[in-house]
Amino acid sequence: MEFEAVIGLEVHAQLNTATKIFCSCANRFGAEPNTLTCPVCQGHPGVLPVLNGKALTKAIKAGLALGGTVARYSRFDRKNYFYPDLPKAYQISQYEHPIVIGGGVTVVRDDGSEHTFPLTRIHMEEDAGKLVHPADTNTHSLVDLNRAGTPLIEIVSEPELHSPEDAALYLTELRAILRYIDVSDCNMEEGSLRCDANVSIRPRGATTLGTKVEIKNLNSIKGVSKAIEYEIRRQTEALACGTAIVQETRLFDADREVTLSMRSKEEAHDYRYFPDPDLVPVLVTEERINELRASLPELPRARKKRFMEQYGLTPKDVGTLCASRELADWFETAAALAKNPKKVANWIQAEVLRILNAKNQDIADFSVSPQDTAGLLNLVEDGTISGKIAKDVFEKMVTTGQDAESIIEAEGLRQVSDSNEIDLVIAAVLAANPAQVEQYRSGKTAVKGFLVGQIMKQSGGKANPALVNQLLEQKLNQ
Ligand code: ADP
Ligand code: MG
Ligand code: ZN
Repeated sequence: MEFEAVIGLEVHAQLNTATKIFCSCANRFGAEPNTLTCPVCQGHPGVLPVLNGKALTKAIKAGLALGGTVARYSRFDRKNYFYPDLPKAYQISQYEHPIVIGGGVTVVRDDGSEHTFPLTRIHMEEDAGKLVHPADTNTHSLVDLNRAGTPLIEIVSEPELHSPEDAALYLTELRAILRYIDVSDCNMEEGSLRCDANVSIRPRGATTLGTKVEIKNLNSIKGVSKAIEYEIRRQTEALACGTAIVQETRLFDADREVTLSMRSKEEAHDYRYFPDPDLVPVLVTEERINELRASLPELPRARKKRFMEQYGLTPKDVGTLCASRELADWFETAAALAKNPKKVANWIQAEVLRILNAKNQDIADFSVSPQDTAGLLNLVEDGTISGKIAKDVFEKMVTTGQDAESIIEAEGLRQVSDSNEIDLVIAAVLAANPAQVEQYRSGKTAVKGFLVGQIMKQSGGKANPALVNQLLEQKLNQ
């Protein structure tokens, strides 16, 4: 029997607000434990949470960017459970009335086809604290409440993904959108984007869902697809030999690339949701929704399409350039000033990203401006310098911060297009290599490449290559 995998993803994204969701403590990663807390996020009795308006705004923007319907009325509920990182013994979340209904994530597959994976909902909630297990003891653990009260949105997909590849595309696109609209930095290593994957299988063609397993502890997109891949294999093998799948929560072991049982359905929680009496319902006006919709920037998919049409770029080019909004902005600033925007795209991929990679930097930290880069490439376009010299000049721009013109002037790197000057170099090279000249004249014309190389070398790379070729040919055929 042939099986089909069914996958639904639950993604938690921490909102990048300045303060927490229900108190005014700073929302920041990496501070000394328990330095960013107050009675509200420590869960003292009798305190009063107040919703952070900026967090609400970001949740609404996420909903709009993902094509969902923003609820004019939503509400916070208490999700009750005990865990040491949750001092109130309930998490403030949304259950019956989430802030966003529906929407979808549209991906472009490798073959160029588009596919939209529908969302069930997006709701807001607070993050819990974090347990720290010191390496030097097994007698106790520590609680850090800095993360408690960090604003989250949970983006829940319908069970309509069917492969690990699509899951990876979905997450990549979702992350790009949330970053473009500046609602989350989506750093999976720091936990600001977290994903749980629900996986089941069913006979191909079936319309009912199989028993699902929920996989937690996924902290990279690659981890998500590896975990799903393993889980599909495990479930297929189990069903093939007649073993039923049990509904359970499993953990992903990234080193061994396997999932392991964590807890079964019998231990599943009953959260006893009920409306949080400390918080008023959230009412959003149509005007506010329209205002936020109008404030959205161009989203990654639209930008990629426009870049392909406007600048003649390939899907691969735009995939790279639009990976982050900052890089796409950088490209557009340079492209607007460049005589040949396609060359800018090539230059970013070949030179800029290579240098950033080597330095482990982001485009925001890059020492060369897009304006100066366009200036450099225009000097190649108009023949002032060769493409090869441009690479050296660029390296110097990176280290000195100077623009191309200054470096070219100071170092005398201007391309030589004076035929008299080039003729002199050619004459010297031909005189020094009589054997090669003889070979050429006896029909082994491939040796011309060697002579061109010598001439370019003699000229310090500055001779105009097209002119060298033309003049050399004349000389050899005399
Ligand atoms: P739970 O209450 O266990 O969290 P939900 O019904 O809220 O379950 O669904 C959580 C996620 O699991 C959603 O993304 C949903 O699409 C997905 N899901 C639900 N049922 C299945 C299934 N049978 N197979 C795969 N994914 C599923
Ligand atoms: Mg769940
Ligand atoms: Zn606080």
